[in-house]
Amino acid sequence: MINAKYIFVTGGVTSSLGKGIISSSLALLLKSRGFRVTNQKLDPYINVDPGTLNPYEHGECFVTQDGAETDLDLGHYERFTNVRTSQANNVTTGRIYSSVIEKERKGEYLGSTVQVIPHITDEIKNRIKILGNTGNYDFVITEIGGVVGDIESLPFVEAVRQLKREFGKNAIVIHLTFVPYLAAAGELKTKPTQNSVKDMMSIGVQPDIIVCRCEKHLTQSVRDKISLFCNVDKSSVIESIDAPTIYEVPLKMMEEGLDTQVLKLMDVTNAPEPDLSKWKKFLYRLNNPINEVTIGLVGKYVELHDAYKSISESFIHAGAATQTKVNIRWIHSETLEGGEDIAKEKLEGLDGILVAPGFGSRGIQGKLIACKYARENNIPFLGICLGMQCAVIEFARNVLNFKGANSVEMQPATPYPVIDMMEEQKKISNFGHTMRLGNYPCRLSENSKIFAAYGTTDIEERHRHRYEFNSKYKSDFETNGMVATGINPDSSLIEVVEIPSHPFYVGVQFHPEYASTVEQPSPIFVAFVKAAAHI
Ligand code: GLN
Repeated sequence: MINAKYIFVTGGVTSSLGKGIISSSLALLLKSRGFRVTNQKLDPYINVDPGTLNPYEHGECFVTQDGAETDLDLGHYERFTNVRTSQANNVTTGRIYSSVIEKERKGEYLGSTVQVIPHITDEIKNRIKILGNTGNYDFVITEIGGVVGDIESLPFVEAVRQLKREFGKNAIVIHLTFVPYLAAAGELKTKPTQNSVKDMMSIGVQPDIIVCRCEKHLTQSVRDKISLFCNVDKSSVIESIDAPTIYEVPLKMMEEGLDTQVLKLMDVTNAPEPDLSKWKKFLYRLNNPINEVTIGLVGKYVELHDAYKSISESFIHAGAATQTKVNIRWIHSETLEGGEDIAKEKLEGLDGILVAPGFGSRGIQGKLIACKYARENNIPFLGICLGMQCAVIEFARNVLNFKGANSVEMQPATPYPVIDMMEEQKKISNFGHTMRLGNYPCRLSENSKIFAAYGTTDIEERHRHRYEFNSKYKSDFETNGMVATGINPDSSLIEVVEIPSHPFYVGVQFHPEYASTVEQPSPIFVAFVKAAAHI
């Protein structure tokens, strides 16, 4: 194939229908037929990136290898396809406008009036084509965030209309809608689907495939009706019924013929059959566990599980890899601050404790209590980013007797003078960012749990943090039983700490959860689950 083919995924009726999972599933099906595929997400909000969005509202911010702070859907794409994404895979309205305005200020539009059409839409089209033009992909699957009909998504859908004209059969639109079941009438209702397709058509876009999210199977007459009213082939009406896990969705889409229909509409002939044997093996191991553990996930955004999406998915991957059912007990760190009895009640009986990443001082005290509990009770422990920093501070306060051990960010009040355990990053990029973002190398000590997990000395993992272990205190820690087992070979920053005398007590400054996929479960999560399950 010479030219990349473009598949757009839009949504109608309501949000949360699972566009990200459908896009990821289609990508997996095409990849498993031997095609080179990438997924992209266009977000209609005005933030330049989701780095500044509140996790309560928007869920986790997913960090790519190149250090882009992106929408959590990119996490799904990577977990399903094992194809790594980058800044180019996530574009927001804010980014589009800011580059158009920057060009305008530089005089690049030569005196013309800068408008949504064509200037904003051209910028959107360019961002879509960037991936196709690399020559690295046969298919670019671009998901448009939001719901068709929203004011914010109009320029994106207009860009899709133009690209469909430009590319002909090399561009198709998959529209995901909702087909509700009305129990009182005993019927599936197609009207919302018809209306949302009408919305699309009123802005000039005829969807090529309609994926219907539903709680009950579509009857033949419902399929016929959607085909007739929405102007698509019957084989273009695809059922997406609720599945027990998102990882079943690719198989369901294959049964429904989503990938076959895509290939047919795009005139791709002689495509090999999809080889999903590895995927099915993963599902088998996931659905047939022989061990079971309960891990306490201590964080401050636990009310919204999406805020820890990559972590909970990493447990699914590690669970399948070890044939272990991993139950997560969600623990709000602030509740641990309610007294020793409450903390004990929340933490007792856990097979492992994970202290989660986070920003700011709220809930820190509870995280320190969780670190101490795991350390003193020999419970397998994994501290990620802020969780590792808490492990360090807890150890300094209670083992080294540095009562004032602290970090500028955390500042949980202690009556002692502050001993700063964390150093703030100096300006590390030209843009004045003080965050370490994206992949950094790390060298592991051979005699360590982290080395045993990864099986190699040199690894790379993704980062997203401002503070670092203050190496001034390294020897105090090491002589008292907490050792640095992972060091950045370029900067000597400490990336991993462990307590060798503990069955499994590991703190990592990086975020291993971002790299975990079905095909490549995160080694440290696998080791942690094994320690929790005693296997
Ligand atoms: N807030 C901490 C820092 O900036 C940790 C960040 C995180 O957990 N992602 O270093």
